[in-house]
Amino acid sequence: MGKRHLSFYESVLAFFDRAAAHTSYDRGLLDQIKYCNSVYQFKFPLKHEDGTIEIIQAFRVEHSHHKLPVKGGIRYSEMVNEDEIKALAALMTFKCAVVDLPFGGAKGGVKIEPRKYTVNQLERITRRYTAELAKKNFIGPGVDVPAPDYGTGPREMAWILDTYQALNPSIDSIACVTGKPVTQYGVRGRTEATGRGVFYGIRHALGYAEDMKKLGLQPGIEGKRVVVQGLGNVGYHAAKFLQEAGAVLVAVAEYDGAIYNPDGLDVDEVQQHRRETGTILNFPGAKNFAKNTDALEYECDILIPAALERQITEENAPRIRARIIAEAANGPTTIEAEQMLLERGVMIIPDLYLNAGGVTVSYFEWLKNLSHVRFGRLSKRFEEASRSALLESIERITGKRLSPEERKLIVRGADEIDLVNSGLEETMITAYDEIRETMLRTPGVTDLRTAAFLNAINKVAIAYLELGIFP
Ligand code: NAD
Repeated sequence: MGKRHLSFYESVLAFFDRAAAHTSYDRGLLDQIKYCNSVYQFKFPLKHEDGTIEIIQAFRVEHSHHKLPVKGGIRYSEMVNEDEIKALAALMTFKCAVVDLPFGGAKGGVKIEPRKYTVNQLERITRRYTAELAKKNFIGPGVDVPAPDYGTGPREMAWILDTYQALNPSIDSIACVTGKPVTQYGVRGRTEATGRGVFYGIRHALGYAEDMKKLGLQPGIEGKRVVVQGLGNVGYHAAKFLQEAGAVLVAVAEYDGAIYNPDGLDVDEVQQHRRETGTILNFPGAKNFAKNTDALEYECDILIPAALERQITEENAPRIRARIIAEAANGPTTIEAEQMLLERGVMIIPDLYLNAGGVTVSYFEWLKNLSHVRFGRLSKRFEEASRSALLESIERITGKRLSPEERKLIVRGADEIDLVNSGLEETMITAYDEIRETMLRTPGVTDLRTAAFLNAINKVAIAYLELGIFP
């Protein structure tokens, strides 16, 4: 009989156990941190134009209530199942802990292929899903706050808000979901936040010259060859920011095919080509791969899986040539594949850290919604006036005058987008340094994922230990 592979959820639990072995917490406490607290599985009908009725299957899993609200995206995909949503909910708990966000973890899923439904049907599905969550108290600004994930975006979040508000009108109801359009109480910078966070994380990791030397790479982004799998919200933005910083996008994979060009692909031109032709294939100047998974094995420095889980497995791991795997997707590398890659000295920047930019900016959006004021609104003009006064004093004393451009650059007060990006950059840098530090100082820990899990376990454990229930 062939070897049984761990499911996605089992794989997350195995990552947890591997890190937990480096702690001395009571087994009961570790189990409390490890398993999902609440699993809600439900079904509802969708009536089609021709009168037929389809039964839609949906989930919301709350993994940990050690902090409230719980937080996590909603996924629309044909592949959605209970095991997957439990794994993603668990990852959310550890992700929020790694980047110090005051949330427990959760995840939602609707088992549909969104491409097969009209906008009108998607709206009805989303509204019904929200109403079902509301009925069971699985959504609310202080209990459970969803966000976008694979197959959903700002449009779905606006429908969720509208439905929730109709059922629960209150001063804080706008904080019931994040990732909303800016005109619907969203925050600037949320759409690109996960990809931007992926970029900040990679840039910071590549800044450590001694770590890069071990990989045989020069420090810095400039000239690094990058492959991206999944040109959706996360993959597109990550590729765009990396390209702007001087990286070369050598291959891209989508669900229907993959393309490569060792001299580089312009990510915006690829997107434009996809909009015009319906596929990334046959992009001018590029070659098509025979299979879309061939892109993962293409010669590059950084491989960025940004589609779905379980893409890098025991089967293809031996053929992967990247020196760094930057996990923009959740769970793209199986535990068995990771072992093989680590033995070959490949650096894996793990999902629970690297794609935390989305939930970080969701946290900022939630804060904005609860405070009912745009970031920067109170301070911007004041900052500008005081900097202007300071500059004028310096100019008077020195007798030198700045050009209008130089003056503008120094005087400008922070807008919402500046503050959001600055908070995101700070979060990604601080968390990486904490993880790296744990990796370097914990005997027996030599990889970033185990170190990230270890940091997360310690942070969640403290929340429980302070309650005095566990020994
Ligand atoms: P998305 O739906 O915007 O994009 C996913 C893209 O991957 C789509 O273009 C899809 O066609 C493509 N794809 C699907 N199957 C593929 C395959 N086999 N090969 C290549 N491409 C394929 O989703 P997203 O929001 O960008 O999420 C992508 C990943 O990032 C998921 O694992 C998600 O959980 C994770 N993530 C997303 C966010 C967020 O803020 N959206 C935050 C954290 C993590």
